[in-house]
Amino acid sequence: MKTTWLNDYQHQLSEQIVQNRLPHALLITGVNGAGKQVLAEWLIQVLLCQQPQQTDVHNGSYYSLQPCGQCKHCQLLKAGSFPDHQTISSDKATIGVDEVRKSNAFLQKTAQLSGNKTVFIPKAHTMTESAANALLKTLEEPSDRSHIILIANDTARLLPTIVSRCRLISLRVPKHAIEDSRFKHSTEDAYTNLTHIAELSDTETQQTFQHFNTLFSDFLIGDDHQALLTFMLANEDAMRWCEKAFADMLRYSNGWHCALSIPLQQLLSKHVLSPVIIRTCHQIYIDSHKQLMTLAQANKTFVLEAMLIKIKQQLNHIQTTAN
Ligand SMILES: [Zn+2]
Repeated sequence: MKTTWLNDYQHQLSEQIVQNRLPHALLITGVNGAGKQVLAEWLIQVLLCQQPQQTDVHNGSYYSLQPCGQCKHCQLLKAGSFPDHQTISSDKATIGVDEVRKSNAFLQKTAQLSGNKTVFIPKAHTMTESAANALLKTLEEPSDRSHIILIANDTARLLPTIVSRCRLISLRVPKHAIEDSRFKHSTEDAYTNLTHIAELSDTETQQTFQHFNTLFSDFLIGDDHQALLTFMLANEDAMRWCEKAFADMLRYSNGWHCALSIPLQQLLSKHVLSPVIIRTCHQIYIDSHKQLMTLAQANKTFVLEAMLIKIKQQLNHIQTTAN
């Protein structure tokens, strides 16, 4: 997939670099395939290049900077031996506090080559809470000419204090740019949501997604499934699907066509399940999601169970009112 939609982002960032007002911490978000990595790598190359070139885009109507590819810095970066750049990643599932502390120390030191220093965190959402807290200090007191570039699939998975200290670049892929087979799998859902590319492109994920939807829909109209849903929701994907379910219900209440189960559609059409209740349930979801991000695995089950019970209470309330 060509990432031509990144031109606009590159132009804006280039202007900020030229005018010397690029924020020192940037957080790039967007769905899989949105070009987060491409944009981040481009930005790092431009920031570190000794003579970035101005390239005209759209017949000169605007420009973007491109790394020259020839200078000493470009070559060292290409060879992976540029001394003033660090990528924070981890072999483990999470980025721990030690990795972040190392990069904090790196940023405090003077650059070895005269120029910018960059730190890249490609999976910022995998930072542990203590790692994120260690990073906060650096975000609050930036050293001179240093830039931190973070990528996250979803800002909801980051500490809000991290998000608030970064300039957020939320990549949006124009619909016409998606012309590959990803959307051929799409259901009759008129609202093709680009945040759900994974579910539309990968058969296994799609099946799990549909299974979850059926269970969750049954749960909302009165069936139990609580234990199984708790188990499934321990997966981040299912948490997103849960949020999508609430969003779809709200859309349906507002007259949009959404792929919802018939019994659920009936509850919504009769306004038995009102937008107010859906919003309350959604808020319960949001609060629980925030809690989950700060908890050890052992306590997550408890939060998920409590979330489902609270949602159930809202629904029991409507069922009693309806009778
Ligand atoms: Zn260069």
